[in-house]
Parts: sequence; C-alpha cells; structure tokens
Amino acid sequence: MDASNGWHCTTDLCSLSAPEAEAFAAFLERIRSAFAVHAVLLFGRERVLAQAVAGGADVPGTVLDLCRSASGQEGGAGPGQARGGCGLRVVADLGAAARWRSHPAVAGPPGCRFLATHAFGPGRGVLALVDGETRRLTGAQRRRLADFAEAADCLVRATACLTEALAVEKRALAHSRKIFDRASEAARIGVWECALPDETLTWTDQVYAMFDLPRDAPLDRDRIVACYAPDSRAALAAARSRALAERGGFALDAEIVTVAGRHRWIRITAQVECEGAVPVRIFGMKQDITEEKLLADRTRYLAEFDAMTGLANRATFEARFSALDQAPAGRPPFGALLLIDLDGFKPVNDTLGHAAGDACLVEVAARLRQSCREGDLVARIGGDEFAILLTTSAPGIAEEVAARLIAALSRPMTWAGRIFTIGASIGIARTGGRSSADLFVAADTVLYKAKAEGRGRYRVAATPPCGPLPYASAS
Ligand code: GH3
Ligand code: MG
Repeated sequence: MDASNGWHCTTDLCSLSAPEAEAFAAFLERIRSAFAVHAVLLFGRERVLAQAVAGGADVPGTVLDLCRSASGQEGGAGPGQARGGCGLRVVADLGAAARWRSHPAVAGPPGCRFLATHAFGPGRGVLALVDGETRRLTGAQRRRLADFAEAADCLVRATACLTEALAVEKRALAHSRKIFDRASEAARIGVWECALPDETLTWTDQVYAMFDLPRDAPLDRDRIVACYAPDSRAALAAARSRALAERGGFALDAEIVTVAGRHRWIRITAQVECEGAVPVRIFGMKQDITEEKLLADRTRYLAEFDAMTGLANRATFEARFSALDQAPAGRPPFGALLLIDLDGFKPVNDTLGHAAGDACLVEVAARLRQSCREGDLVARIGGDEFAILLTTSAPGIAEEVAARLIAALSRPMTWAGRIFTIGASIGIARTGGRSSADLFVAADTVLYKAKAEGRGRYRVAATPPCGPLPYASAS
C-alpha cells in the first residue's frame, strides 16, 4: 500500500470480486432506505466503488462529478477545505445554491436537488446521498450518516487489507510456482495424476516433454501405456494393481519409447489417494533418468568388460576363476583354463603404429569369441594376454579349441590396406582338483614352454592326481 497516497487502497477496490461488490451494494441499499433518498454512492478518487439507486439504473457521471465537487474531493477543493478532507457537507437545495444550480446534474437530468456527502479516511472515500427533492437532515440523521460513513470506512479498509493480503498470497504463489517450474525443469521432474475410475490424466509440462508430446496434446492413457517397453509395461501394470489393492504406492524405473521414437528411462513414483476406502486417484512424479541410467550402465559395463575389445576384463575373469576355490569337491565351475599370449604383436605396434595394434586386438577378440562356445568365458587379462575358461574338461576338447584358436589367430589381418600376420601361443591346464592359484601357475608355465619351443603352439599341463605328466604338444 502506498502510504503517500491515501486513495491507493480505494482504487484497489475496483477489482472487488462479485460477492464483495454485492455486499457493498447491499450495505448502501440499507443506507438508501434508511434515508429514503434516490441514490447512495460510495466512491474513491478514480471511480464509484459501490452504489445503490432507486430503480436500479447506474448513477450518471454528472452526478458523480457533482458529488466529487461538493465533497471537495476533486482537484479544486472548496475554500477552507483541505483536499481530500473528512466531514459532512450538506446542500439542502442545489437549485437554490448559486454554485450548483447550473451544474449539469442539477440543471439537466437527473435533476438533483439534494446532496449530502461524508468524506472519510481521510481521503479513502466518500459516502454520498443524492435525491431529486430538497431535504434537510436532522441532527440525528447527520449523526447516523456519520456512523454509516465510519462503517463504510471500516468496510473499505478491511476489504483493502483483504485485497492486499490476497495479492501478496498470489504473488507468493506465483513465485513458488516459478521456483517449482525451474527446479522441476532442472531436475527433469514432472507431476502426474490419474483420476479414477475414468483414468483421466493430468500432467505438468515436464511430463509432456518426457514423452515428446506438445503441451496441449490430449492424454489418452492407453496411448501413453503403449509407449512403455514391454517389460516396463508389465512391471508398471503389476505395481499399479498392487498399489490400488493395498491403497499404497510404488516406485519404478521404466523404459519408454516416446512418440518421437526416442528411448528414455523414467523414474515413476506413485501414491494412491482414497476417499473413504475408495481409491479416487493415483498421483506422483516422473523423472527423466536416461542420463543417470546410461551412466550407471556404462560404469557397470566398464567394471566388467574391457572397453577396447568388449571381452570380459581381468576383474570379471578373476571373480569367475576364483570361484573354483569355493566350489564343492569334484564339481568345479569350469573345466579348463587356456592362457593365450599373442606372438609377434609388438612389431604390429612398432611398424604400423599403436592404432593398428588396437585394431589388431579388437580383431583377435572377435576371432577368439567365434572360436568358443557360449558359456565359455573369454577375457582379456593383459596387453596381449587372453584367458578362456572352458566349461568342459572332457579329454581332447581343450586341445581342439586351442588348435582352432591358433589357426584363427594366424590368419592374416588387414589394417588401412596393410596386411600383417601375428600368431598365438597357448597354455592349457584342466582343473583336476587344483586351487585357482595352482591352476594359473600350471597354465602359465606351459604357455611359456610353448613360447620357448618356438611359438604358434599349445602345451598342456599335467593333470593331478596322476602326478606330473609330460606335456602334450601340437604345432
Ligand atoms: P611375444 O611374441 O614374445 O609375445 O612378443 P610380442 O611381440 O607379442 O610382444 P609382447 O607380448 O612382449 O608385448 C606385448 C605388447 O603389447 C607390449 C605392449 O606395448 C603392447 N600392448 C599392450 N597393451 C596394448 C594395447 O592396449 N594396445 C596396443 N596397441 N598395444 C598394447
Ligand atoms: Mg605377446
């Protein structure tokens, strides 16, 4: 409220809502009938705030002008009257007063003859009685008019306070809304609601954006549910039914394909609201977690796989390999270990460059995978070192696989139009009741034997309990 301008609050009353305006009109109607006059006006500097007129027509502008002038509330205050001052002024016969007789509201329609104004505030407003007959006000009537003016002042002030409070609340609400909108945009969180039982959906802007739908698109639940990937759709249906049955809630990470064909992950939280025992709506939040999901997937992938070749990495290999030590006797989790070291790999780096070496490793990984069965673990455990855990320990199989690998890896490779050849040496050790550490040493030992004996071959470690056997060989 502007303290320097006493009219400010009254002009605010122009935005009175219909019920408030009716209350003012009813108040003025009581005054009108109490004084048996034609019209009662409550006005501020800008305009009429409320009025009661016999017959219901609006007070003409000329009458308002007359009231303003007579009450000293217009620009030119009367002699000895402070502008916007309080107090009662009565003109018993306007036609007889030299100052007013030629005023359009007196000389012309509606032909005012009597006027009493009571300013209050100071400057907050004026209560005016107008009539077409000349009148006199008794002392009691003057006091009564003063009382009504005081009551009008209270009403105006209370309404102004209320209007101001509402405006403050509206501003605070708009501010909160702005903050909420910004925060939800930054966090990619939207609010959703599904009315029951007709399943009408209501979304905030963020949820529309998540599904790549324009803000005013109609929301048909069947169409929205069809956006969920089959697994997520089934999980959503199950979680929703359970929540409805238990009058509870749920949280779910779901995959969707938006109407624009984009894959997204969203985190849904939901709560069922009941009236009595009957669920009337489900509502909650949806958050776009695509980036978080991709990052988590990538992190998990890097923890388990070799980024360059896509094979299992050393950590994954060791986890599977050391499971041997926890396995029940006679039931090892795999049958044999093959350790592979490439032959002549360094010259690829040295002659063609590191990028060629990397491409060579990727090709090696592909050939290793192709030469093994599903269920065998193929891992890159060092620079040009690989390990394979074969599921079987059946005689001859590991040798067969090793021979196949050596043949596959010795086939020429091409990089940037250049053809080159590498090879591989392999050490094989069957589990045979050994610890993982012993098994690894056994395979590693025979691998270096294969290297020492000329490369491009495999060697097989003797299998206990028959005691050390001479190693088999193939070149
Ligand atoms: P040998 O026949 O005795 O096994 O020798 P080699 O030429 O295969 O070389 P060696 O096994 O001694 O060394 C492997 C080389 O692999 C050494 C290293 O610079 C290279 N290397 C290790 N990791 C990578 C990689 O990720 N990319 C590339 N391009 N080279 C690698
Ligand atoms: Mg090597």
